[in-house]
Amino acid sequence: MGMTPDELIEEVAESIVSAKRIVVFTGAGVSTESGIPDFRSPGGIWTRFSPEDFTYQKFLTDPEARRRSWQMLKMFGTMKEVKPNAAHYAIGELDRLGKLDCVITQNVDGLHQRGGVPEEKVIELHGTFKWVKCLSCGRRYPIEEIMERVEAGEEVPDCEECHGMLKTATIAFGEPMPVSETKEAERRSRNSDLFIVIGSSLVVYPAAYMPIYALESGAKLVIINKGPTPIDRYAHVRIYEKAGEVMSRVLERVKKRLN
Ligand code: NAD
Repeated sequence: MGMTPDELIEEVAESIVSAKRIVVFTGAGVSTESGIPDFRSPGGIWTRFSPEDFTYQKFLTDPEARRRSWQMLKMFGTMKEVKPNAAHYAIGELDRLGKLDCVITQNVDGLHQRGGVPEEKVIELHGTFKWVKCLSCGRRYPIEEIMERVEAGEEVPDCEECHGMLKTATIAFGEPMPVSETKEAERRSRNSDLFIVIGSSLVVYPAAYMPIYALESGAKLVIINKGPTPIDRYAHVRIYEKAGEVMSRVLERVKKRLN
């Protein structure tokens, strides 16, 4: 009982060195140090917008909801100026050390890839903000292209090809989860021997089942998150500090041990 912060970091590093299949699971909290607000912290997105206004069903059926949705996106910009932070880079480094099976992320910001994790090792459970897709013909557009049209005054852009409804390739509330990503994430979680949660409140399902699958299969669970989660008591190591700082220190210790 009562390990010091240094001992906790050391314990995570040791677990990483001895593990064979490490899955890192991330949520909005891994990106707040990059300047993207999360949903549930004070000042988070849901303290300024109401989630009921942004469901998939509303988007499909209510032109006003589509307008509001594009307005909100305009406010956020295209995330081009946003940069990966120390936590993303540390996870990229884990991969270069041969210590990463995959990253399962709820984020749509693409920062893991830009932080050095190969594309094929990032499972995006809630889609991506990189693309906009036509809900009728399936054509995909880079987000920048569509946001330019919105900036130029189109309130609700439509498909150039078929005039169908356009929507970002992110998963909205009430929208079905992507089938192959969800299956693959479950498989990797069950197959892991060390599962590291970074920056997620673990209350959004089915994403939050992933650490439970890992526990069921006997994996060690590490949780690095500022706020509480419903499964804190099952964690082998629980650290309540900032992801960037913690992960840089963890990686320092891992490299020392591997040398
Ligand atoms: P959440 O907002 O429910 O929880 C974020 C958690 O991260 C909180 O518990 C908070 O205490 C913690 N946190 C915040 N900053 C941290 C830091 N620097 N270090 C450590 N912990 C920190 O987010 P969630 O669990 O990801 O679920 C919300 C949904 O929001 C997800 O489905 C996700 O798709 C979406 N989302 C994505 C982005 C993004 O792509 N960057 C941003 C906002 C929301």
